[in-house]
Amino acid sequence: MPNTINGSTMYKIIQNTLKVMEANEKYLTKLDADIGDADHGINMVRGFKLANERIQQLSNPDVGALLNTTGMALLETVGGAAGPLYGMMYMRMASVVKGKAEIDKKDILAMLEAGLKAVQNIGGGAQPGEKTMVDTLHAAIQALKEVADREDVSLEEALEKAVEAARRGMESTIPMLAKWGRASYLGERSIGHQDPGATSTFLILHTMLATLRGYVGLKVTKYSDEDGSIIEEEPIKA
Ligand code: ADP
Ligand code: MG
Repeated sequence: MPNTINGSTMYKIIQNTLKVMEANEKYLTKLDADIGDADHGINMVRGFKLANERIQQLSNPDVGALLNTTGMALLETVGGAAGPLYGMMYMRMASVVKGKAEIDKKDILAMLEAGLKAVQNIGGGAQPGEKTMVDTLHAAIQALKEVADREDVSLEEALEKAVEAARRGMESTIPMLAKWGRASYLGERSIGHQDPGATSTFLILHTMLATLRGYVGLKVTKYSDEDGSIIEEEPIKA
């Protein structure tokens, strides 16, 4: 397995992200129905559909061009809170790796750090512990930081650590009180539900690893009706 991600791999990652959002559209929307307005799955599918149409029109794009085009498509179509948040996140990630033919685990760390900053700038400054996508992203970054400089850790191993941490970050949102977005209107009633944005961020990060490993990503097949936590999932084969 290569220790870098090039343009053609990133292209595949964005294609697979659409497939993963489609496979989990109902699940993400269910999570958003519990503490929001039941559109998160629909929003993410719409956004990644346009992103995929747009990247098809690029000729021989590098990683930065792919991420930037994706960000602009998300900004344009996703709407709601997640549109600007994910749109700016991808565009900022793009600017960090601009012009690079391939990116390694240090680049990915720098990208995610810039992406997190963008989310915090756009969204008003959510911190870990406040029940948003920041919980997933921050956890992944912390895990990646520990291994990004280590020569003996491969890209795959580093991403595996990041994805494991992202999963814990996602699950950690269940007992949290929402401070941001629509979920915050619920006050105490937001407690006990997994955050939809934290979940889509986990799926996005997981898809990067899955793509490197030669499959598409994860489909959540069974989840707790009570808190939305994942009970069963299966890999989506090519
Ligand atoms: P909307 O809430 O406008 O319907 P979505 O349902 O698509 O948008 O996305 C909701 C998700 O966006 C939440 O689950 C949360 O993770 C994330 N989110 C909302 N507001 C913020 C914010 N201010 N900062 C960070 N993340 C946020
Ligand atoms: Mg919503």
